[in-house]
Order: sequence, then structure tokens, then C-alpha cells
Amino acid sequence: MMNETVKKTELKKSCINCGAELKYKPGTTNISCEYCGHEESIEIDENGFMELELHPYLQEMGAQKHSEEISMLHCKNCGANQHVEENYKSLHCVYCSMPLVIEDAYKEEWILPGAVLPFQIAKEQSFRIFKKWVSRLWWAPNKLKKAALDPQFTKGLYLPYWTFDAQLLASYTGQRGEYYYETRRVRNAQGKMVTQRVRKTRWYPASGEVFGFVDDTLIKASNQKKGRVPHKIARWNLKLLQPFNSSFLSGFVTEKYTIPLKQGHLQSKEVARDIATRWCRQDIGGDTQRVTSMDMQLSEETFKHILLPVYVSAYRYKGKEYNFFINGENGEISGSRPYSFWKIFLAMMAVVLLIVLFVYFGGA
Ligand SMILES: [Zn+2]
Ligand SMILES: [Zn+2]
Repeated sequence: MMNETVKKTELKKSCINCGAELKYKPGTTNISCEYCGHEESIEIDENGFMELELHPYLQEMGAQKHSEEISMLHCKNCGANQHVEENYKSLHCVYCSMPLVIEDAYKEEWILPGAVLPFQIAKEQSFRIFKKWVSRLWWAPNKLKKAALDPQFTKGLYLPYWTFDAQLLASYTGQRGEYYYETRRVRNAQGKMVTQRVRKTRWYPASGEVFGFVDDTLIKASNQKKGRVPHKIARWNLKLLQPFNSSFLSGFVTEKYTIPLKQGHLQSKEVARDIATRWCRQDIGGDTQRVTSMDMQLSEETFKHILLPVYVSAYRYKGKEYNFFINGENGEISGSRPYSFWKIFLAMMAVVLLIVLFVYFGGA
């Protein structure tokens, strides 16, 4: 190749004062040195996000200008693919805490992210959120609480997502339903004749066309089974997205997409179909609608590969793996947890004892 493209990933920056690796400082657009506090601002691409034209990427032979190689570490235990933008001496899988072997790292192609939502919550802050939450876990075993709070098992992770944009045009045929009411005399359960109002629908044929822009359909690009991020915290403010720069990844783990673009695109089409159906119903109007046929076309389709932040705490307790998650943008927390049999058993015994005492003495 004649033109030399600058590698956008794995471009490590070191501190000019002490030589340490500069890491992204959450909530800012800077990278900073943990040791001497030196900060540098991250260069934000003025051209904005990289929206890529979809179709060349769907064909394997298409010009994949925006792909390049990154080093990946594969977890043999849970299958997660992770990239670490930092020189670690020892490393554990972000999902299942199994040790990873750095020598096993291999190069893999990936479509460069078009945008990244940088961490807004600092690591220390995530520890505080964890701590507060764990301390409120009433029925959890004490050992688990300790394990959960070990900062070694908490990592900031960028999750891969696809987003799709498209112009949507749909023509439909269907029916518009209008309600009307009839009264009739019926015998009720007690055998009396009563008047009843019954709702009925009159249907009128309807057809037409709807069109509009479908913006930022978000599709998960990780098929990670273990430690899947709970639905209730998987919401981010996409207005905070920044054009991709690998400096935002420095100090964090990045998961590579395992749901291919093609599959993500098919899922986004399903979402578009739901949107189109909703638009058709609005267009039909009336009290209720039927869409009997719809022909949907998407054009000017573009996509982005984006990265979204979470903190994951992965640890083992009695041979089982547990995960806690904190949304790296808004600090919402969720996680699975075991219950302590003895704590619950003892509490129940105490309740039983109280009841016995009450009956015995209270009744006397
Ligand atoms: Zn320094
Ligand atoms: Zn793993």
C-alpha cells in the first residue's frame, strides 16, 4: 500500500514528565498521568462521527477502509474477546475474572469505532457506588461482600454496539376502525333483564405512504452469554458520544463485537419495521387500525460501530461467577447476587421465636 494510514488504535501515549502511560480521565476530554498529574487534551476529530455507508461493508469483498488490526485476548473460560489499551502485568477476564495470558494475544481485524461515549464516572466513584450497594445487600454472605469490594475485580469496560441510520419509505394498505356503540338487553347472572352498552367497530379501507428518517437504531454487538449487562442499566445518553479516538480507551478494557454487522443490520431492520408500522397506524388514524400489507424500503443506510461504558465487577464465590454492573455514564447499578442460607435461616428462626413468645406470654 502506498498511503500510510496512521493506526488509530493502540497508539499509546506516555507522560512527558515521568514516562508513565497516560490514561483517559473520566468526565473530561483529557488523558492524564496517575503519578504526576500531567494532563493532555485528546484531539477531537472536527469532522464529527464517522458514519459509514452500509452496503460496501455488508459485502465481504467491499472496501473496508475503516478496519484495522487490534490485539485481542480471548477468555478460554467464558469466550469474551477483550482488548486492553494498557500494559498490564497480570490480567483477568473482565466478565469471569479468570486469568488471561498476555502471550496469547493475537491480532484481529475490526471495523474501527465511529464514536465512543467516554466514561463519565471515575473508577473511585464506581467503587463508592459498589460499596454503598453491597453494604445494603441484607441477605448476602459476608465473604461475598468482601470479594465484591476488591477493586482488582472491578474494571471499566467499553461495550460494542452498532447503530444504524436510514431513510425509510413504506407504502401500506389496511383499514381504519371507528368505534360505535349499541345497546342491547341481556339477562344478567341474577336472571334480571338489563341494558348493556357494547362497543363495535366499523372498518374503512385505508392506504398510503409514510416516510421519514430513522436515526440511531441501537443494536447490541456482543453475544456474551455470561455476565450479560442487565437491561435496566443498558441506557446511555447518546448525545455524549465523541468521535472515536483511542485515547478514550486508555486504561480501560474494550470488548470486540461478536455479533457481525450483517446480523446487527437484520435486527435493525426489524426495529425499522416496527417504526414503519407505527407510522402507518398514525397515518391511518381513527380509533383503531389494521395494517394488512406493508412494503418497506430503506435507503441511504449508514452505520457506526460505537463503544459504550460500563464498570463490571466479576468475582467467584463458591465456584460460581457473579457480576455487578454500573453504567459508566450515569452510575446506575445492577447485579446478580447469592443469598446467605444461614443469614436467612437465622432471621426466620428469630421471627418464629418471637411469634412463639408472643403467643405464649401475650395470650396468658
Ligand atoms: Zn507523569
Ligand atoms: Zn471470561
